[in-house]
Amino acid sequence: MNDILNKPVQYLKGVGPKRARTMQNINIYTVGDLLYHFPREYQDRTNIIPAQSLKHGQVATVLGRVLYAREITPRQRLTIVKLALDDGHGVFFAVWFNQKYIIKQYPPGTMLLVTGKVDKSYRGETQIQVIDCEAAGDPDQALHGGRIVPIYPLTEGISQKYIRSIMQNALKEVASLQEFIPEKILAKYRLPKLADAVQGMHYPKCKDDIHQAKRRFIFEELFLLQLAMAKRRKKIKLEEKDHHYPPGNGPLVEELLNSLPFDPTADQIRVWHEIRQDMESPYPMNRLLQGDVGSGKTLVSALVLVKAVDAGLQGALMAPTEILAEQHYLGLNRWMETLGIKTALLTSSVKKSQREKILNDVKEGKVQILIGTHAIIQDIVEFKRLGAVVVDEQHRFGVKQRLALQSKGNLPDVLVMTATPIPRTLALTIYGDLDVSVIYTLPPGRKPVRTYHVTHRAINDVYKLIRREVQKGKQAYIVCPLVEESEILDVQAAVDLAQQLRESTFKDFNVGLLHGRMKAEEKEKVMDEYRKGTIDILVSTTVIEVGVDVPNATVMVILDANRFGLAQLHQLRGRVGRGRSQSYCILVADPKTEEGKQRMAAMVNSTDGFNLAEEDLRLRGPGEFLGVRQSGLPEFKIADIIRDRRAMECARQEALELVEKDPGLQLPEHRLLAKVLYEKYGKNEKLLNIG
Ligand code: ADP
Ligand code: MG
Repeated sequence: MNDILNKPVQYLKGVGPKRARTMQNINIYTVGDLLYHFPREYQDRTNIIPAQSLKHGQVATVLGRVLYAREITPRQRLTIVKLALDDGHGVFFAVWFNQKYIIKQYPPGTMLLVTGKVDKSYRGETQIQVIDCEAAGDPDQALHGGRIVPIYPLTEGISQKYIRSIMQNALKEVASLQEFIPEKILAKYRLPKLADAVQGMHYPKCKDDIHQAKRRFIFEELFLLQLAMAKRRKKIKLEEKDHHYPPGNGPLVEELLNSLPFDPTADQIRVWHEIRQDMESPYPMNRLLQGDVGSGKTLVSALVLVKAVDAGLQGALMAPTEILAEQHYLGLNRWMETLGIKTALLTSSVKKSQREKILNDVKEGKVQILIGTHAIIQDIVEFKRLGAVVVDEQHRFGVKQRLALQSKGNLPDVLVMTATPIPRTLALTIYGDLDVSVIYTLPPGRKPVRTYHVTHRAINDVYKLIRREVQKGKQAYIVCPLVEESEILDVQAAVDLAQQLRESTFKDFNVGLLHGRMKAEEKEKVMDEYRKGTIDILVSTTVIEVGVDVPNATVMVILDANRFGLAQLHQLRGRVGRGRSQSYCILVADPKTEEGKQRMAAMVNSTDGFNLAEEDLRLRGPGEFLGVRQSGLPEFKIADIIRDRRAMECARQEALELVEKDPGLQLPEHRLLAKVLYEKYGKNEKLLNIG
């Protein structure tokens, strides 16, 4: 079945071992790779222009008979070859530089199809500087002119002409290709069949051929991806977990809800019910909780962990940084202590003797809730009976880490939380295997943060604002940018600024310093003092970006704000506005680029995370938006998740329906599809977050 696609390219006529090796540079190994090596653009050379109508400067395709050749050497190392051509309307010259062999290749009498740039500036002659040329026997067979010509991405040693000619040989095999996308789906969206689409992509008869072929391959790419994810989602739901929870809120969950200093919001209650249902079902939960910064996800995670304890199981919470793990521990522990639940904190800076005790208590089940950094997914950590796992700020973790944590128990229930609002199309791409819950509204009484963009010249006004707030008993952050390439320099900038502010501008206040190169204990001490209010102004690098929760802070100053992406700026802004007082976010920046200016404007104009995420995705593209390396975002050949978002929705819908009917793709009519899917995603399913 479609075995031709897996044959090495060398199988094709015209491809020797050397060229086959060169083509590997553009990822072409098999005939299939070649056929899926799509043109980057097309040139319409359908119209053959008569000699007398050629206009200076235009790129045109002409057809003429060779009359004679001429060779000119105006200076050393430059040879100009001119062929005089006659097309029945007039005589013109095709011109090549340093390609003497042309004279032999196209002797007088040859019919030549030439595409090139028209130059009439030389002695009134009509010259054509040749871009592409071929001897035209049968015009139907013409590859490089007289048709819509594909222009391919190339590598050194592989020319357009070469790739077109071997593509032609590959296309001869295409008629026998079997379709693998179900007919019904193709018919529904009026997509061409595989063989026709391949033909249309490489050898279009008209522009619509290209359009239809592209539609098909975009759909195909998205459909295979969605199918892989739908299968994985289904697979998780097919295996029963061996732990279970009594239905409803258990006594500890009830007690937690009753002891809260606030009423949970309607959204918090709604998502809790969605989550509870997952937990009570016989199949493991695999859910994403999205909620803007400050929307109250921590309470939801606490409910999950406590429900596990209610059922005699253990819970675990993983956070991306030590500061955040520590803060979760402090925050959650306060609630857990009153409930009589035993928690522990495990990070890489926990001392050895203490670590051993914690590991032992976790193993024996004495620790009921373990909170920590990725230290908790190391092999030596063993749980007695892990029931539920919460991963905070999922975007900071790789998919591998999520899977590692999942493997700690026997199919534990997993809730991943993120405050980076992800536009729906992107979510469908990277989290397609997860169910999604969203907290849309913030707890009541919050005043939206007022955001201003100022230039560095206005820094003294910014300091005045800080002074005013601190005098009212509030606190402030000043964030210095951190660029990975030179962490030391950036840390130095923060150190210097703190020093300078302590000695002059803010002599009368307490200025703290926090950066990634400090020891864990030092960081803890600083955060502790900031939480208590002993530190008034905290100068920091972006280590405070995620999750830090000090409701008394009302000013966030971000220096060189144009160096941050929108998502990150929004996260930083989310550190203030967490209490009842009016808060301020000041972006200090002199953006040079248009994009930088747009980002500043977007921040000033919107406090809505989803809105900003859409904007960020538009401005930076999906790769930058997520940081491809850690995101598990697949690389697309032809689809574009922003442009093709509707195709993505359709592909997802079809994939879900298909997997519902035939979870293992075992029906005979799906056998080829299963094979294609396996070849594409089967081998590296974990890396890709799918499979
Ligand atoms: P995030 O979703 O960013 O993790 P948090 O869980 O840290 O948000 O919550 C932000 C702040 O809002 C915390 O100080 C928390 O105690 C408070 N909070 C959470 N839920 C409510 C609520 N329903 N009413 C009032 N305050 C709440
Ligand atoms: Mg949080």
